Amino acid sequence: MSMPETLYMVVPCYNEQEVLHETANQLKAKYQTLIQQNLISSESRIVFVNDGSKDSTWSIIQELHSEEPHFFSGINLAHNSGHQNAVLAGLMTVKDICDMAITMDADLQDDINTIDEMVKKYYEGNQVVYGVRSARKTDTFFKKFTAEGFYKFMKLMGADVVYNHADFRLMSSRVLQELSGFREVNLFLRGMIPLIGFQSCNVYYERHERFAGESKYPLKKMLSFAVNGITSFSTKPLKLITSLGFIMFVVSLIAFIWSFVVKVADLSVSGWSSTMCSIWLIGGLQLLCLGIIGEYVGKIYAEVKQRPRFIVADFLNDINDSEKK
Ligand code: UDP
Ligand code: MG
Repeated sequence: MSMPETLYMVVPCYNEQEVLHETANQLKAKYQTLIQQNLISSESRIVFVNDGSKDSTWSIIQELHSEEPHFFSGINLAHNSGHQNAVLAGLMTVKDICDMAITMDADLQDDINTIDEMVKKYYEGNQVVYGVRSARKTDTFFKKFTAEGFYKFMKLMGADVVYNHADFRLMSSRVLQELSGFREVNLFLRGMIPLIGFQSCNVYYERHERFAGESKYPLKKMLSFAVNGITSFSTKPLKLITSLGFIMFVVSLIAFIWSFVVKVADLSVSGWSSTMCSIWLIGGLQLLCLGIIGEYVGKIYAEVKQRPRFIVADFLNDINDSEKK
């Protein structure tokens, strides 16, 4: 093989002080073997993105960088921007200094040994390599059920995502350049990357349990993530509303004929229950539909303002360090 290329790992971290040392150790060991095998260049770095943590995450990152600048870099965001924005902040910061980047969570749920395979697939000509979960043995029944339901519902609602793929993926710098052209504020990376195209493939891995600390994605956040994913990628809910409106119209025509018949037959005494039921049903449906439309209006509002999606306060990187000196 010719000259090895440069790999940057982008690892978003929000209150990850319990796992950070372990993650850093495991990634460093992985980098050492990859460099030895001539699969990645010695300019490759592991970038931890601190997403406004309230614990000592950032000071651990600073410490890692000052002790081993040849392995560890750090990005400090000015405030908590959320997982997707933190990942994007990392990718946009490194897009011009790497040949390929892999995004991975900090909690060691994604299998580090998959990195070798991803890199090999990159050399085979793939611009995007998706990490796909082969099993969910360690997830609780509830997490498995809700997570798999998530992918199915997404598909049903018209947002095409890679089944059982989260945000563990390799992207070439070429893909990152194209990604920088996506200006949307409502980020849903796993929907955006497939839109970019290029040659891609999947690699399969078993997802582990979180190494330490607790999940930052409780059910409430997962639900809003799903709503965000659907409304960012599909207008199918709006079309469903139109169909629903049409069905209601047909039903009301039938009801009209029926009430006319009842009137003519002179049976029009009772009718309280049917009136009440339709008022509540139609009222509820209208509110639901307004809510769905509101979701989209809210999105447009956020997009129109074009606020920055993240603010990088610091970028610790030995390339920068030497420039400063
Ligand atoms: N994360 C982040 N900002 C946030 C929330 C989470 O950068 O506001 C990071 C977190 O540190 C982790 C990754 O996103 O590396 C995924 O979060 P988590 O493991 O809690 O989610 P789960 O795996 O439970 O879905
Ligand atoms: Mg996790």
